[in-house]
Amino acid sequence: MIVGGGTAGWMAAAALAKVFPGTLSIRLIESEQIGTIGVGEATVPHLKLFNQLLQIDEAEFVRAVKGTFKLGIEFVDWAQVGDRYFHGFGTIGHDFGLLPFHQYWLKAHRLGKAAELGAYSLHTVAGPRGKFMVSAEDVPKGSPLADIAYAYHFDAGLYAKYLRRYAEQRGVRRTEGKVVDVRLRGEDGFVESVVLESGERIDGDLFLDCSGFRGLLIEQTLHAGYEDWSHWLPCDRAVAVACENFGPPTPFVRCTAREAGWTWRIPLQHRTGNGYVYSSAHIGDDEAAARLLGQLDAPAMGEPRVLRFAAGQRRKVWDRNVVAIGLSAGFLEPLESTSIYLIQSGIARLVNLFPDTGFSPAVIDRYNAQTAFEIERIRDFIILHYCATERGDTPFWRYCRAMEIPAPLAETIRLFRDSGRFYRNAEEMFAVTSWVEVMIGQGILPRAWHPAVDQLSDAELQRLMDDVQRVIAACVEAMPTHQQFIARCCAAA
Ligand SMILES: Cc1cc2nc3c(=O)[nH]c(=O)nc-3n(C[C@H](O)[C@H](O)[C@H](O)COP(=O)(O)OP(=O)(O)OC[C@H]3O[C@@H](n4cnc5c(N)ncnc54)[C@H](O)[C@@H]3O)c2cc1C
Repeated sequence: MIVGGGTAGWMAAAALAKVFPGTLSIRLIESEQIGTIGVGEATVPHLKLFNQLLQIDEAEFVRAVKGTFKLGIEFVDWAQVGDRYFHGFGTIGHDFGLLPFHQYWLKAHRLGKAAELGAYSLHTVAGPRGKFMVSAEDVPKGSPLADIAYAYHFDAGLYAKYLRRYAEQRGVRRTEGKVVDVRLRGEDGFVESVVLESGERIDGDLFLDCSGFRGLLIEQTLHAGYEDWSHWLPCDRAVAVACENFGPPTPFVRCTAREAGWTWRIPLQHRTGNGYVYSSAHIGDDEAAARLLGQLDAPAMGEPRVLRFAAGQRRKVWDRNVVAIGLSAGFLEPLESTSIYLIQSGIARLVNLFPDTGFSPAVIDRYNAQTAFEIERIRDFIILHYCATERGDTPFWRYCRAMEIPAPLAETIRLFRDSGRFYRNAEEMFAVTSWVEVMIGQGILPRAWHPAVDQLSDAELQRLMDDVQRVIAACVEAMPTHQQFIARCCAAA
């Protein structure tokens, strides 16, 4: 039983219907009266794997959700006002010997023999030039064009509709109605049934709570508890508004640091999504809305809408026979577009640890431990953007610069600053390249490089830098523009 028909509910319904065809009886309850949150337009490359699992045709999908493509995120004014860097999804240069490319770059940069780090990444060069293509099959193996990581920007409402159609075609039964009561089993407190406003009572074995921020089952009924991370991520509101398109769509999200938070700009085929994520302790709703409207590239479409949230995580995302997926499980601001990814990984983990009616506590504990580890690492990655700022121009940024940060993040930064090294646990989401790009983009420049780099002479090092930069520049030159690519492959009707 799935309670909630937002992105989380329909992603879960579609995936479970695909993975367990005919073996699970899946019902989804949603209330049009309550509605969905309706934002969530930028994604990460992992979503391609989800679409592959569902055997969704990419061009059909992009057309249906009026989507565009995303090579990464451009961060403006984060380290200092006037700064700009790109977090691209791909690799930087190529590993050489046993070392990652950035180790060589560190020395070359110190010697004045290297350009900015981004010059060695296809994504970082192509994005700002408005170039995009998917991986090419007719290029030599090892060419940067052979393996291009990318994600999508899409209309969240159309995405939920698309998945609903997919799930219903595969047997998921949708019930329109508002859940007004939840019944628990006397002996063990498991959820037994939900009761709709109409009086209908619906029983189930496993309940997925996809009811959004309210956490109807996991919190309002089971009181799983919430770990609040607002002291590290003080933004607690967002105001969002779409505007008309202005110029060709960029193949990236732009995130610009503002006086009390940051704004996003996400281009779709039919409009551009905009929002200001801010700390209500540092700016009022009206002023935030005025600031957002004041910096739009084109006329607004509709009125700005304010959304409230608290950064954090449910203490137990799986409690008894209820698994929280989506906003009911927790929330991290959309700076790195990770919420839909967290839905996807929650579903993947559930499929992996799918319970029988015995609901083994060991299985539940494993699920909760993995979920906590994953979201805490993502949380730290997001905090990095704030704490590694040199801005001191507003109270908000002075708070971020001075705040105490989680110990694992402090250790990660110290190791990188001292040695340029970064270690990734197999179960964490962001790749080494992502951390390196953001750390260097935020101005954390390591003091040293790996000693093995010194095996290359200065001339060899220079040649390595020049060769990679030349190959990247030539590849980007050969790419079509993002707009040309969409027009050719997947323009919406
Ligand atoms: C400002 C902002 C920007 C965001 N941007 C991004 C982004 O760029 N990328 C990204 O990955 N994520 C983003 N997110 C997160 C993303 O919006 C959510 O992860 C995603 O929409 C999933 O929401 P949901 O399905 O969990 O909840 P919701 O969309 O809130 O859906 C809840 C569902 O539960 C139903 N429901 C609730 N109560 C009842 C009841 N009593 N009876 C019956 N039904 C009920 C509702 O009708 C609805 O169908 C953003 C979030 C915010 C706040």
